[in-house]
Amino acid sequence: MGAETAEVVICGAGIAGVAAAYHLAVRRGVRSVVLVDERPPLSLTSDKSAESYRNWWPGPGDDMAALMNRSIDLMEELARESDNVFLMNRRGYLFATAQPEQIPGYVKAAEDAAARGVGPLRLHRSAGGDYRPSPATGYEGQPTGTDVVTDPELIRRHFPYLAEDTVGLLHARRCGWFSGQQLGMFMLERAREAGVRLIEGRVDGVETAGGRVIGARVSGAGGRRTIGTPRFVNAAGPHVKTVGRLLDVEIPVFCERHAKVAFHDTQAVVPRHAPMMIWTDPVRLPWSDDEREELGQAESLRHLLEEMPAGVHGRPEGGGDSPIMLGVWTYDVEPMEPRFPVEFDPAYAEIVIRGMTRLIPGLRAYVPRLPKHFVDGGYYTKTEENRLLSGPLPVEGAYVLGGLSGYGMMSSNGAADLLADYIAERPLPRYAPAFRLDRYESPAYRALLADWGDSGQL
Ligand SMILES: Cc1cc2nc3c(=O)[nH]c(=O)nc-3n(C[C@H](O)[C@H](O)[C@H](O)COP(=O)(O)OP(=O)(O)OC[C@H]3O[C@@H](n4cnc5c(N)ncnc54)[C@H](O)[C@@H]3O)c2cc1C
Repeated sequence: MGAETAEVVICGAGIAGVAAAYHLAVRRGVRSVVLVDERPPLSLTSDKSAESYRNWWPGPGDDMAALMNRSIDLMEELARESDNVFLMNRRGYLFATAQPEQIPGYVKAAEDAAARGVGPLRLHRSAGGDYRPSPATGYEGQPTGTDVVTDPELIRRHFPYLAEDTVGLLHARRCGWFSGQQLGMFMLERAREAGVRLIEGRVDGVETAGGRVIGARVSGAGGRRTIGTPRFVNAAGPHVKTVGRLLDVEIPVFCERHAKVAFHDTQAVVPRHAPMMIWTDPVRLPWSDDEREELGQAESLRHLLEEMPAGVHGRPEGGGDSPIMLGVWTYDVEPMEPRFPVEFDPAYAEIVIRGMTRLIPGLRAYVPRLPKHFVDGGYYTKTEENRLLSGPLPVEGAYVLGGLSGYGMMSSNGAADLLADYIAERPLPRYAPAFRLDRYESPAYRALLADWGDSGQL
């Protein structure tokens, strides 16, 4: 039997590795792609996501919006091709505030977004306007860009379940959610039909000769093997740094732990057709007098009496009959070493549900006794400015597809399409330089980093 070889070995079968395999084999016709993972595909971080997407991304520049628009274009193509097997919708992200002073900021953000290619701004200051709500299902024929709504009657008419003191809404339209697992499995099946081999095992070495990749060492149930290959893609998710070290390349990322809670909205407080809703004001959690006193006495819990950061968000999950709501609140993030299984704040569900009552007061029904709920999550693997890495590494034949942070489900198609262009030696899109590792070597980029601003994380 001849030595085992491949044109490309991809380490990691999360959404990044699966998308890379798909774009290489199916869309670029690269033969002999091997996908290696020590776990079942899509099972480490890629099945923990809130599965939402948006082209609503901040600058500097328009690279992030351009990559994300490309990624969403590709997901829409896949949705058409698969009869929307992954249930992509286009309900939008609805940012809401009770602070009138935030409204000029909403308008400015939407104007800036329009200049970045997110789509046009429509202002709705009176009830007679042409605000068009999103349909519950489907993604075709919908507006792009942003609606900013400040007319109280319009707000109440379309979103009667939001807090009564809501004075402004920013509805970003090329946004929604989908089943990440179904999308990943669809791409994996197409990739396997196009010849991609999935191998169970751990990549524990990358062999080089004369400064270029010649093989990947894999250990697994069947023992150790070396796959001879001229190209190696590091798509190892939270382990991208460790796998980078197999090549003596330092990948500049860190991990943050993030969770989400799924809870039963048994009293149907939130209509099933609602969009993703994000409260952009800081929040004070509602507590009874007794609870206040108790919290005040416990040093580790006293902070829960203070103002908590803006950004609590949530949305309905599942089809028509599902009672599930998802809630997310990034109120506490610290860089940490990824450790599995991941442990979460035991109070996370209660804090998020209480926080969401500020946005959707009807959820107070669940405060005295929390509904049935489930908390899970994983790590956001991030670069310092929260922009992913897709492109070549300093070792010839080595590439990275990582740092996908909290937006890897939505960006993986765009990022993998870009990577496939490098590997298949196709012309690169104009946003390519913004996602290369060697951007950090540019003094101009380092200067930009020092004054970066909004990272786009919710
Ligand atoms: C709570 C939460 C909410 C999120 N919400 C969203 C959202 O709404 N929208 C969105 O777009 N994104 C979201 N994300 C982010 C998204 O889930 C991630 O960006 C994405 O899953 C990362 O995919 P990945 O393939 O890079 O990593 P992973 O899915 O972690 O896959 C990496 C794979 O590499 C394998 N591996 C690592 N080292 C080796 C090795 N040495 N040998 C073999 N295999 C190896 C691992 O076993 C793993 O299977 C969320 C994430 C979290 C945690």
